[in-house]
Amino acid sequence: MAPGKGHDRESIVMDTETACARLIAATETLDASGMNVGTTGNISVRTTSGMLITPTGIATSALRPEQMVAMQLDGSWDGAFRPSSEWEMHAEIYKAFPEAGAVVHAHPDHCVALSCLREPLPLFHYMVAGFGGDDVRCSDYALFASSELARVAVVALEDRTACLLANHGMIAFGADLDTALIRTIKLETLARQYLLARSAGTPVLIEGSELAAIRGRYKNYGQQK
Ligand code: 13P
Ligand code: ZN
Repeated sequence: MAPGKGHDRESIVMDTETACARLIAATETLDASGMNVGTTGNISVRTTSGMLITPTGIATSALRPEQMVAMQLDGSWDGAFRPSSEWEMHAEIYKAFPEAGAVVHAHPDHCVALSCLREPLPLFHYMVAGFGGDDVRCSDYALFASSELARVAVVALEDRTACLLANHGMIAFGADLDTALIRTIKLETLARQYLLARSAGTPVLIEGSELAAIRGRYKNYGQQK
């Protein structure tokens, strides 16, 4: 089925063809920056009737706009292509966080490494607070593509916009795809910097009492007239 034709594709908030193209561009960005390889990761954007999500098991180089899957948050979909096996993780995030307009799941090296230690990313750098709190949590372990993974991800995301997924990778959401994507790249950068600091010694963490000041500074940071 051509993008923009049929079932609920018309109801997508963003123009459907644009949304399909942007999902593919986002997967290309992640692959190009080494955050995903082969068929790892999945990306979605919210639509008025559910979400538009990347298909399961198709490598980025082979992705075509018509393979993007329009589905409802209860898991129903139609068309020729099966949705990401982790659609439920995306759906549960859209249900739990009304502000989420896009979700990015990836397997970047440093996020995976930290998730294998089953440790959160602590407040070693002020930018960690940009994800909503004094750390970025690591979820409990759950089998990939399972309902349990969707559940533990939502728990780890409470009051946050990203989390690590134990022995697996990371997931981030944002009001739009660009925001979710930049959060993914920022989280991987921070995970790399944290592991680098750990490899050189014991990082001194920022005091929790500094969090309010960091938040205050973020409120007016980067504003242009
Ligand atoms: P899908 O190809 O089904 O989206 O799965 C990729 C993935 O990251 C599984 O953990
Ligand atoms: Zn995965």
